[in-house]
Amino acid sequence: MKEQDQYLSVIKFPAFVSITLIILSAVYFGFLYHALQEPGLSTSQTLIFGLLLLVLLVLVATWVATLMSTHIRLKARWMRLLSRWMLVHVYYPLARFLATVTFSSKNILIESYLNFSNETVLTDQREISNSSILALLPHCLQKEDCTVRIGTDIISCEECGGCDIAKIKQLVSQQKVDAAVATGGSLAKKLITERNPNVIVAVGCHRDMVDVVRDAWIYPIYAILDERVPGAKPEAKVNLASIEFAIKRFK
Ligand code: SF4
Repeated sequence: MKEQDQYLSVIKFPAFVSITLIILSAVYFGFLYHALQEPGLSTSQTLIFGLLLLVLLVLVATWVATLMSTHIRLKARWMRLLSRWMLVHVYYPLARFLATVTFSSKNILIESYLNFSNETVLTDQREISNSSILALLPHCLQKEDCTVRIGTDIISCEECGGCDIAKIKQLVSQQKVDAAVATGGSLAKKLITERNPNVIVAVGCHRDMVDVVRDAWIYPIYAILDERVPGAKPEAKVNLASIEFAIKRFK
């Protein structure tokens, strides 16, 4: 990744959300200023401006708390859940909207969003030992012509070393961590609900990671993007050090 892309993959998401909130505030106060030029606001206008101000204040206050949650663990559980819900259902769509209207790279925005989300999860889980961690893996890590039927469990991998599944199998068994393989977003959600872990270390492509983080937002999910090298093997690769780092941090 180029140095500029690396920088953007950290700063882009928080910058886009902040810019969008500044634009929304400017639009609100622009309309309010215009309305106040008229001789007095009607009751319905007062109500609408009051409600919009309330929404704006909630958006800004929760965003400030969410920014803080990358460094400071929010004390109240309801605040942590609200912040996570807003991150997934409000702030990401806002940043996505700005990326669309500015023709900005969506993949870099997703990387930045996941980096940001991972920081909040690491802070949230700081000094917490989890009894159950689920390593959620995509099927595309398996070698294309592997004859072993993996299903949702990597236990059947014969560890021939043909793909990253072998090393992940060794890692999760050393660390005594549960692992599951999902072929798509709905299966991933089903596996998460069934196994109900304390924390998830998920691997996948950009789109799958956004879906999993959104669908299972109630769970702390540390997302790791898989890697596809153009012209190389058809199966995806993953940085094993990132998986090991996350598992050890959450244990
Ligand atoms: S390591 Fe070998 S046996 Fe295991 S999934 Fe990959 S190719 Fe198949």
